[in-house]
Amino acid sequence: MQYKAGNEAEFIADLHDLIDTQLRYALRLMQDQPTDVVMLHFLATDNGSHTLWRFMDKTHPRHDPALAAKYGNALLEVYQHLDDAVKQVQEAGCKMQDAGCNTIIMSDHGFGPLHRTINLNILFVEKGLMHLKPRFFTQLRWWAFRNGLTPATAYKILSKLGLQNVTAKVSRKARNEMVGKFLSFEDVDWSKTTAYSMGHVGQIYINLQGREPHGIITPDRYTAARRQVIDALNTLRDPATGKPLVDRIIPREEAAHGPYADQGADLHLILDGYKTIAFPLFATEGRVLTPQIRGDSGCHRLHGIFIGNGAAFVNGATVPNARIIDLAPTILHMFNVPVPEDMDGRVLTDALTPELRGKAAQIGAAATTSTAQVDFTEEEQAEVEERLRALGYLG
Ligand SMILES: [Zn+2]
Repeated sequence: MQYKAGNEAEFIADLHDLIDTQLRYALRLMQDQPTDVVMLHFLATDNGSHTLWRFMDKTHPRHDPALAAKYGNALLEVYQHLDDAVKQVQEAGCKMQDAGCNTIIMSDHGFGPLHRTINLNILFVEKGLMHLKPRFFTQLRWWAFRNGLTPATAYKILSKLGLQNVTAKVSRKARNEMVGKFLSFEDVDWSKTTAYSMGHVGQIYINLQGREPHGIITPDRYTAARRQVIDALNTLRDPATGKPLVDRIIPREEAAHGPYADQGADLHLILDGYKTIAFPLFATEGRVLTPQIRGDSGCHRLHGIFIGNGAAFVNGATVPNARIIDLAPTILHMFNVPVPEDMDGRVLTDALTPELRGKAAQIGAAATTSTAQVDFTEEEQAEVEERLRALGYLG
């Protein structure tokens, strides 16, 4: 269920139901099809932290004491419920293993408050790094955007008229069509555009020739174009404090490696201690910075948690710089299975008992790369697109 102001109770009940359902399936599978390793991915703490954050965080700009009185403990209770689910999975798993069992809990990120959204494409238009088509409707939409006729204000006007429940009932397709009436990537004049931002947290792409469908930046101009974008980003200031908004700009060569690294985003951004994130599509409105309008009041942080419990782990050890990609080699090592040469990550030896640590990580032959083509049926493709859209990856 998607969170919307007013449906807190149902949304929270849905999170608990999700944990219960996942737990029930997991226990059933472990019983019916015993395996040496069970991996579960629980999502309720992510969904819950995105939406319930402001109820427990008194410093959040959208903290509301009346709602906090009702839902201030809701996120804590989701975590407590998950703790209990993990305990049940662990108990069921350990019952089946005579040789002793191990449990690893790892999050793929942490969480913190989310205050604002940034519309990077609007910044790029203002800085001349993106141009809009000269055609009448685009200019009209741009004018309307700059004068406040945006998806954000349309929603606010409907709310004032008491019609927000009408919009909630409108199908996703209709909502996409409505958003299409506003400014979008369709309005961009790619023949004059240096860079654009698209993706879940504002990944920035240079309009590179040979990679982008209408790329104009030749490879020899790539570095200079990227410099221009970085300069534009460095002009961003927190309007309240006047301090620079950009904490870090991570170039693609630092963020990705491997044969397809050059297909990914050219720049990644960390803004305002993660309290500001970019809007994943074209823009929410004509301003560069805007208060977060969607339901979210919390967002991801770089550092998450790692817990190792059981016979393989030493008590009280800390594991500096553990990454999610270290899980697979660590688990292979615990099972005495050679770690393939081309596998990312490392064995987290700091967490393991001296006996396991002493055994140098075995390096096995590189696993053969699968070249099998995955063909989706039209239906499957539509479903994948729908899921990506729901996550905000597609317009
Ligand atoms: Zn998330």
